[in-house]
Amino acid sequence: MPRFGHPDCAPSAEDRHGPKPHASPSTNESFPREVRAIATHRHTPRDCVELPLRPGLILTLLQPQGPHWYIARNSDDVFGWVPSAYVRILGDAGPKAEPNGVYEVWKKACNEAFAAEGTLTTFPELPRGVKTCRERSCVLRKGTKYGTSVGDLDVCIHDLEKLLKGSGCYGVKWLKAERVKWHPDQFARRCADGFKDEGVAKATEMFALLGGLVDKESRRED
Ligand SMILES: [Zn+2]
Repeated sequence: MPRFGHPDCAPSAEDRHGPKPHASPSTNESFPREVRAIATHRHTPRDCVELPLRPGLILTLLQPQGPHWYIARNSDDVFGWVPSAYVRILGDAGPKAEPNGVYEVWKKACNEAFAAEGTLTTFPELPRGVKTCRERSCVLRKGTKYGTSVGDLDVCIHDLEKLLKGSGCYGVKWLKAERVKWHPDQFARRCADGFKDEGVAKATEMFALLGGLVDKESRRED
């Protein structure tokens, strides 16, 4: 059952975020769709209509209330006011997702590949189940081989993004660290002689796709 505010608090006169405007749906437009946000600071409620926050907490913002507050819902289905300065709005998919099994299995294969020294003979291909993007330009490109690398992996940036969000660590810093591991020069050293061309071509594509995700996520986090 949704509740409003949190139950165990004492009202306080102190209010560093400024007064809360009178809540009125007619003067405060709702968001046109659900807006997800992440708490960036700890917030201790000063009255019973505010929600407690801790950094990393994911919220759904329902309605702005003047310049300093939102009405939000937390994952326990509790509604309340949160200071707008203490939350950051996330993009559609958000940077965090729960770790999932598909990612974990693939990551294990990657780590084994990264540990190889001149012995690698297979590439840790992306799991078939994530190759689902049906955007026209992606479908045309996937599976189309030109040059030595593009299309070899049969995945697009959206497929890779979906897989990596299963890590639970998705973000610019993490993506940059992941990209380094696919650097073609580094990857070449892991490959057995007969596998070098294929391995390096595929690693080059992974490196480029990760670069694209770094750019995309950088724009989102700005
Ligand atoms: Zn795509």
